[in-house]
Amino acid sequence: MSPERDTAGGDSAPLTLRDFASMPASVLRGVGPKKADALAQLGIESVLDLITHYPRRYVDRTREALVSELQPGEQATVVVRVEQATTRRTKRGQAMTTVRCVDGQGNSLGVSFFGQAWRERQLTPGSLVVVYGKLELFRGARQMTSPVVDLIGDRTGRIVPIYPQSDKAGMSTWEIGDLIDEALRRVDARRGFADPLPVAIRQRLELVGRGEALRTIHAPPSLAVMAQARRRLAFDELLRVQLALVQRKRQIEHAAQGIVHEVDGTLLERFWATLPFTLTGAQQRVIEEIAVDLARPLPMHRLLQGDVGSGKTLVAVATLLMAVQGGNQGALMAPTEVLADQHGSGVRALVAGLSVPDPASLLTERPVRVELLTHRTGVADRRRILAALAAGGVDLLVGTHALIQEGVTFARLGAVVIDEQHRFGVEQRAALRDKNHDGMIADVLVMTATPIPRTAAMTVYGDLDVSVLDELPPGRTPIETIWARDHLEESVAWATVRHEVAEGRQAYVVTPLVEDSDKLEVSSAEATFARLGVHELAGLRLGLLHGRLGSSEKDAVMEAFRRGRLDVLVATTVIEVGVDVPNASVMVILDADRFGIAQLHQLRGRVGRGRYHSTCFLVAHLNDPEAAQAVSAERLSALVRTTDGFELAEVDLDLRGEGTLMGERQKGRNDLKLASLRRDRELVGVARQVAFELVDERGSLGEHPLLEDEVRTVLGEADTEFLFKS
Ligand code: ADP
Ligand code: MG
Repeated sequence: MSPERDTAGGDSAPLTLRDFASMPASVLRGVGPKKADALAQLGIESVLDLITHYPRRYVDRTREALVSELQPGEQATVVVRVEQATTRRTKRGQAMTTVRCVDGQGNSLGVSFFGQAWRERQLTPGSLVVVYGKLELFRGARQMTSPVVDLIGDRTGRIVPIYPQSDKAGMSTWEIGDLIDEALRRVDARRGFADPLPVAIRQRLELVGRGEALRTIHAPPSLAVMAQARRRLAFDELLRVQLALVQRKRQIEHAAQGIVHEVDGTLLERFWATLPFTLTGAQQRVIEEIAVDLARPLPMHRLLQGDVGSGKTLVAVATLLMAVQGGNQGALMAPTEVLADQHGSGVRALVAGLSVPDPASLLTERPVRVELLTHRTGVADRRRILAALAAGGVDLLVGTHALIQEGVTFARLGAVVIDEQHRFGVEQRAALRDKNHDGMIADVLVMTATPIPRTAAMTVYGDLDVSVLDELPPGRTPIETIWARDHLEESVAWATVRHEVAEGRQAYVVTPLVEDSDKLEVSSAEATFARLGVHELAGLRLGLLHGRLGSSEKDAVMEAFRRGRLDVLVATTVIEVGVDVPNASVMVILDADRFGIAQLHQLRGRVGRGRYHSTCFLVAHLNDPEAAQAVSAERLSALVRTTDGFELAEVDLDLRGEGTLMGERQKGRNDLKLASLRRDRELVGVARQVAFELVDERGSLGEHPLLEDEVRTVLGEADTEFLFKS
């Protein structure tokens, strides 16, 4: 039972997040229409918004320096009082604001700003400010130019919170702080804060109480206490997300009627016998995990993460054959025509020679029938395929989005594999899963070649079970990655391409990424193609592939490259996923600093697929040590250092933060105000585990009504929906 339940309900019950959410900020003293308006500009409408408007940082006044102690050139924080601020025009016409300040011992400090005339209004005489900057000596006087300045008003205390504020809104950090203080004080004086977390869990995890955490994050007696408060509140945020995910997962499982597949059978045995290699340990383990799911009456919802080349296709086909062997059908959906085609031929090759009982006759067998359905399938073919599909004559259907269109009806869809999940939404997953007219829910395996860190997977794909193919088939020669930093090093890349082609190998050249403009990207690809043909790669057979080609042109180019009639494929990122030409042994990525880690890793995965030593050149002439370039440099160095997608994913998370990882989700209203998938990796796992403890098998939080209420309040119905639309 939750601790709050020992307080009787009614007016004396401690206040919940829902209570706070339902109180407009104007209930607080001093918040009239004008202040309410200013708060609204900061996104603060309710008391809940206010008390979860956490400090952006803290100024530790126990560690502040005195102006007289600082050496010129030293970076430091000082607390000073403003004496006078004046603005004048410089000779060049720029506003220059000079502020005269003194510290606690009367030492003076001059602070100047350029082009920020509003500083004069902000820094009124008498205000106490925290100044962070580099000390300079100018004509014997101590001063700082354009330091970071925060007003702290008359706030006392050793640790001063600095709130996110907006100068436009006209709310100072101490006004916000005072309002929060008042809100917290009033809650404490009356009904207190409800703590929805069961005491036993709180004690086990050594978390401080909710009320204490809220009080001390806003007014910490020390930074150590603040860290404890932050840990509790960050945990709460992560727990709410996990509760929503786990609830959803259990509800789906509970409601659905799944198919009990015949996972041991002769079809699969014959399939194994046809393979020219043995499965990797990881493939065996993952196929076993899938077999366990398929044999259960609950529908499978599993995510398969596996690096490029880890052998996901084989796992996919094994999954589909397990369905087929019990008399059901399988579907494989890919995000692009190119990939669907490739899967179509790949799957056909893998199941060639396998047969299934022919329902038309008890004694005969017929070959396993694979069909390809895309938007390009002709009308007559489409009609023929759909008829056979509905009659049960097609065993495996491979295709694109065309699979989830109206009119596509399976006789008995048993298992669905969706490749490259990040391009499909949850609705599409659901649409394919529900293609059976008898209400039986097909099992779903989602595959992604974009490894994401474990904790992030728990959040982004928290409603799925996760399997990982963390082993590459034997005999791969690792790809050597070289960062070409200047023209000389770049010329080595072109020499390598010519050399490899002379040896009978093939090459990819990836042309610069142009954000947000297909058109520019295409013209850049065309220009590169033209230049290479007359300069660096003159005399080689070059092909050009980009997103604006018609699909038959695309096919023709791909086919020519696959058959070795082209030496070099010059391409935009359209080759990012799935293209499989084992004879290609070198890739040159131009302007590699424009691509993200995941994308570079995907691109690089197009080589090293055969038995040849492969090389990937990252061309990026980064000699300007700017901050923006430092991050690019770290990305490129990481790619040079490792080919392990999971390791790269961790680096990516560190460099970019989770914002980009969560993608669109992060842009909506978001409950992760304090928690970070990066900083709080350990807490994510703990929160998920606790969520599994608290949610019952029907997906209900019935025994923990306050938590249930809180998930709804904070994430909101709309946001919980949003959470599932990846
Ligand atoms: P992914 O889709 O994970 O990038 P694929 O399924 O395309 O990888 O497999 C990459 C290559 O490895 C294919 O040529 C495939 O035939 C081969 N392969 C898969 N599993 C094994 C294995 N166990 N041993 C050897 N080669 C394998
Ligand atoms: Mg693949």
